[in-house]
This record gives sequence, structure tokens and C-alpha cells, in this order.
Amino acid sequence: MKRILLKLSGEALAGEKHTGFDEPTVTRVAEQVKQLAANGVEVGIVIGGGNFWRGRTSETIDRTRADQIGMLATVMNCIYVSEIFRSVGMKTQILTPFACGAFTKLFSKDRANKYFSKGMVCFFAGGTGHPYFSTDTATVLRAVEIEAEGIFLAKAIDGVYDSDPKINPSAVKYDEISIQEVIDQKLAVIDLTASIMCMENKMPMYVFGLNEENSIVKAVSGDFSGTK
Ligand code: UDP
Repeated sequence: MKRILLKLSGEALAGEKHTGFDEPTVTRVAEQVKQLAANGVEVGIVIGGGNFWRGRTSETIDRTRADQIGMLATVMNCIYVSEIFRSVGMKTQILTPFACGAFTKLFSKDRANKYFSKGMVCFFAGGTGHPYFSTDTATVLRAVEIEAEGIFLAKAIDGVYDSDPKINPSAVKYDEISIQEVIDQKLAVIDLTASIMCMENKMPMYVFGLNEENSIVKAVSGDFSGTK
């Protein structure tokens, strides 16, 4: 594939701690993306914010304000991961839908294309820039805008199951499933808004486990054992 969008959940960055950052985990991601970039794949990255904050979990403060904190959490995540990527020798840029001074660049498709053409990895931080959305929706939005060939969803679980394998030991993993079936069966792969956008734009999605050895490189190179 020539250009992909990789989505990492905030928790995935935190490892066992479930909050903040786990440097060995992020370094393993960096080494894999470096390999992809060396093979000429243009990689855009969206990172969630759940290792710091989720807007909808706050019951006391205004939801719009709570979501702004969530969006800023994704900016912190991207700054951290971008620096780890640079420490292993990659060139990176962080793009946000709102101005963050000198911390990031303002997102536009032209700007993303310019950075990709320079061999840089682009981090799309700050979600959609709007409350009541999620980084799932930002992932699909950016993937469609930059005309990515597919979304690679790196999760704590190694694919899409018909029920939660932690609760049901006989849960069955799908090799392939349509977004319509994901919606109908309420399989909670990505949220509803993101699912609809993905379906409308016929954006392929590959769900796989982040914790398996070399799983990002394998998934993008077609050695795929998750759910398409
Ligand atoms: N968020 C938002 N708009 C966006 C993307 C994210 O308001 O376009 C906020 C929201 O508060 C969310 C948090 O940022 O809870 C972290 O994003 P993530 O998608 O990881 O959250 P989750 O879906 O896990 O709540």
C-alpha cells in the first residue's frame, strides 16, 4: 500500500499502566512504522486520548469543555509519540484542526501531502476539532481526506469477535465483516458516526492486535490475521 492511516488507542500507548505513556510500547510502534516508511509507505497516524481523559466520563463539567480537554490529550499523545519516532530516526509533523502555536501545524490536505512527499510521518492530532466526536471519527475523516488506501486499527484485541472473548471463551473471530454487520450486531469496533462515514466512503478497515510481534508491518504488508 502507498498511503495508510494508522489508528492507535490512547490506552495502547500506556501498556500495563493504563495511563500516561509506556516508552517500550511506543518505541516498538516507532520501529515498525520506520520499516514501513523505509519501504515507501506514507503513514498518517491518529491517536486516541483515553490514557489521559475521556470527555463523556465527566459528570460535573460542561461536555464541550470536557471534550476540549480530551482533544488536547490527543495533542499531548501525538507530541510524545512523534518525539519517540524522531528518536529512532524518522521525520515527523503534527497537524491539528485548531492552532496550537508553535506546537503543531494547522491541518490542511495540501500540507499533509507536502509532508508525505518529503517522507515524513504525519500525526493528525486534536481529533476533528469539535466536541461530541471521537478520534474514531477523526480517523475516518482524515483517511478519506488524505485518500488513504485503508485504515489500520491497532487494538488491544486481535480482531473483531462476535462477542467479548474475555467474557465468552467460545467467542468467534471474524476474518471479514461488513460495516453494516458491525452496526447491526453492535460490535463496538468503532463508534456509530465513524462507522457510517467509513461505509459511505467505502474506506477499507483492518483491525488487528497491537501487542503481537511486528503486527503493524505484517498487517500492512498483507500478512494479516485480524479482521478486514
Ligand atoms: N474528542 C472530541 N472530539 C474529537 C475527538 C476527541 O471531543 O473529534 C475528545 C472526547 O472527549 C474524547 C477524547 O477527546 O473522549 C479522547 O478521544 P478518544 O477518541 O480516544 O475517546 P473515546 O472514544 O475513547 O472516548
